[in-house]
Amino acid sequence: MSRQRIVAGNWKMNKTYEEGRALVKDIVGQLQPTETLVILCPPFLHLNSISGQIKDVRSLKLGAQNCHQEGSGAYTGEVSAAMLQSVGVEYVILGHSERREYFGETDELIAKKIDATLKEGLHPIYCCGEKLDVREAGGHLDLVAAQIKTALFHLSAADFEKVVIAYEPVWAIGTGKTATSQQAQEMHAHIRSLIASKYDQQVAGLTSILYGGSCNPSNAAELFSQADVDGGLIGGASLKAGDFVAIVNSF
Ligand code: PEP
Repeated sequence: MSRQRIVAGNWKMNKTYEEGRALVKDIVGQLQPTETLVILCPPFLHLNSISGQIKDVRSLKLGAQNCHQEGSGAYTGEVSAAMLQSVGVEYVILGHSERREYFGETDELIAKKIDATLKEGLHPIYCCGEKLDVREAGGHLDLVAAQIKTALFHLSAADFEKVVIAYEPVWAIGTGKTATSQQAQEMHAHIRSLIASKYDQQVAGLTSILYGGSCNPSNAAELFSQADVDGGLIGGASLKAGDFVAIVNSF
């Protein structure tokens, strides 16, 4: 069994309801049948309607951009994993650097969110990655190892197998500055070896590790050709159907 290739689009806080529906219509129209899993992660508001739009497209899945760590209760403005599951969501992005930076999310909190999603049968897409100063000081491998240990290594092997990892160097997100394919490969191989030491080679070999950070139709093929890069988490380029589908076709 080989690991799943994945391209996930993180729309962030973009697209009104109608714009979102139009984007999905265009993606569905342009996407050829593919073995790559294509995950759309629109804002919460759009999930239910987009779930209906993509229900007959085998390769398209629905993802959310966050969820709360508790199952239900007095948490005004929040959305639970069970609510997401109830409208057809299968994946949840957790630990995105924007959640860490603007909403103070720590790996301890993200670990609880990971548990909440797994409890509802959802797949977390766990984002990790270093800021520029850490990379320049040569601390990137250790930092990402610490992030992964704190957020994920309390999981059983059976639960860990449901997790997707996205390596997103913070200095590459939304900046137009992409990691080189060598930088991505070095980190992805490092992450896979950490997983092998904690669990085993089989679990490590089956874990999909995505690259994220200014991935676009011109650089995706080179990044995706690396042995340990199993696809991408795409921000800006996921907002245009043509670019997003071109990235999916880059394998
Ligand atoms: C992201 O936010 O996950 C991301 C990768 O953004 P961008 O592609 O715009 O750098």
